[in-house]
Amino acid sequence: MRKEIEARQMLSPVKQPDIWFGLKYSMNLYRGCQHRCIYCDSRSQCYGIDRFDQDVLVKTNAIDLLRDELSRKRKKGTIGTGSMNDPYMPLEKHEKLTQRALETIAQFRFPVHVLTKSDLVLRDIDLLQQISQVYTAVSFTITTANDELGKQVEPGAPRPSARLKAIEHLAARGIYTGVLMMPVLPYLQDNEVNIRELVKRVADSGAHYILASFGVTLRDRQRVYFYQELDRRFPGVSQQYQQAFGGDYFAPVREYDHLKAVFKAACAEVGMARRIKPFCEPEAQQLSLF
Ligand code: SF4
Repeated sequence: MRKEIEARQMLSPVKQPDIWFGLKYSMNLYRGCQHRCIYCDSRSQCYGIDRFDQDVLVKTNAIDLLRDELSRKRKKGTIGTGSMNDPYMPLEKHEKLTQRALETIAQFRFPVHVLTKSDLVLRDIDLLQQISQVYTAVSFTITTANDELGKQVEPGAPRPSARLKAIEHLAARGIYTGVLMMPVLPYLQDNEVNIRELVKRVADSGAHYILASFGVTLRDRQRVYFYQELDRRFPGVSQQYQQAFGGDYFAPVREYDHLKAVFKAACAEVGMARRIKPFCEPEAQQLSLF
């Protein structure tokens, strides 16, 4: 159900340094997410989002706050969106909060990193291209190239093939884009075929980078929901998890080192970067030339 709330702050500082994405601020325009990924960490108690899958809370004052906060920032730093919910979930089609936030970011000439599972991001391709003059990175989470498996683990999100197609469009427009293969789920996606196939498809799409994390976190409410969905969709798999990981916080893939090596080799074969090039202040860019 759609509900409205007023936020107190729009840009939260990110703990420095952010070695994955080089973010300085994180921005969440909504609370809750319609994509219903069965492994989603945002269900964890520490985030305090009750009814995560039932309600989406729209922050009605988000754009005013963003404008005000950006006008007072002295230093530029990358604004990341998409860590606690998907900025292009179905509701965004009509709400257009993400679109308006990008317009504001473009106006203040800040760099941005968008993380999504939706090809709805293409609606804003002109804006993203405009922000590229400063810095844009658009990352798609894709954990498998298999649409059927994707539908089971990310039931509310567009299929992996639609995300790969979106990458093609973004890359063709010169926008920096790539893939987060996170999480690779033990017993479902931790096999060589999945890793190799995905790296190949990502390379074919024209993506610039692919980052991977070989395992999944399992925290309180997140774990309960995940096991419930595993029982419904993949009978017998939650028992394998319980046996292998008990109450552990992190569930690594089987043959962790081997799969990492397979991933590294597959990326090398197609010349794919395994890191994101972060935004760099123009002065720092100049200095690095000397
Ligand atoms: S898209 Fe992201 S935030 Fe939304 S349910 Fe999936 S993992 Fe969670």
